[in-house]
Amino acid sequence: MKLNKLHSLVCGAVLAGLTLAAPVAHASKDKPEIGFSIDDLRVERWARDRDYFIAAAEKLGAKVSVQSADASEERQISQIENLISRKVDVIVIVPFNSKALGNVINEAHQAGIKVVSYDRLILDSDVDAYISFDNEKVGEMQAQGVYDAQPKGNYFLLGGAPTDNNAKILREGQLKILKPAIDKGDIKIVGQQWVPEWSAATALRITEDALTANSNKIDAIVASNDGTAGGAIQALAAQKLAGTVPVSGQDADLAAVKRVMAGTQTMTVYKPLKLIASEAAKLSVQLAKGETPTFTTKIDNGKKPIDTILLTPTLLTKANADTVVKDGFYTQAQVSGN
Ligand code: BGC
Repeated sequence: MKLNKLHSLVCGAVLAGLTLAAPVAHASKDKPEIGFSIDDLRVERWARDRDYFIAAAEKLGAKVSVQSADASEERQISQIENLISRKVDVIVIVPFNSKALGNVINEAHQAGIKVVSYDRLILDSDVDAYISFDNEKVGEMQAQGVYDAQPKGNYFLLGGAPTDNNAKILREGQLKILKPAIDKGDIKIVGQQWVPEWSAATALRITEDALTANSNKIDAIVASNDGTAGGAIQALAAQKLAGTVPVSGQDADLAAVKRVMAGTQTMTVYKPLKLIASEAAKLSVQLAKGETPTFTTKIDNGKKPIDTILLTPTLLTKANADTVVKDGFYTQAQVSGN
């Protein structure tokens, strides 16, 4: 078909109010372009996800543009709009607010761009795929780790960001483990709070307040990640309670691995970021090429069941903390350095 004929057909369709399929201007499918929109690159784990993702995608012949929203819903939406106008083939998103991206994802689809939800599920939206670790299992590990160390007494639950669907799933996993002991009266939940933006500074303040409100009678803290665990442990340390009150975490942040070895944090969860990043890169390239990736399950995001890959996390205590060195996540020097 001649170009001007195509043009008039396209214009005709637009005038007739028809929704057109993908514009044809995407990059060559041998060299797909992937946009990676990350909630907050100032957080240790996401910078690692980015680096592993770029390395894996480039190996597969793709080009990656990364954006950090620095914990701003508006900034993330406009960065995604920018990726859409640059006509990338796939946009991979770590959402800041799991509930705020439905419209921009529709815009991406109208432009023929596939959307992958990375680590955190984007709710009520038409995403094409989701990849994460089994977050309910992570929550179970956190509660189990603390419970094994302290099966009785006053528990404080320090949740993640209320804007993050993972925070909710983690809490569900934690309560699944704790419920029988709560029902028996062995454990009493003396407080539960969400920590906006998973901020360590806010976690510190919340824990200080909880200690004051309970005259320091808190026997265990189920914290939902290592950043917030760090804040909680700082508050405990100020009351000379660090190391006596079990605290959970996740991510195997370097500081947390050191705390686990030192005994001030009871456990963390190791999630091999190289694995999730490289699986996500593979999946994105497959979607860009119109191939069908292999999924392990489906998870409903409120709009529809989403094709999902869920990876397996590992519980890390003092006993197996060297896993992170064996797996090449850190060097021995990093772990034993000050
Ligand atoms: C991730 C955690 C991370 C947290 C804060 C969660 O959605 O699953 O690994 O610690 O966000 O960035």
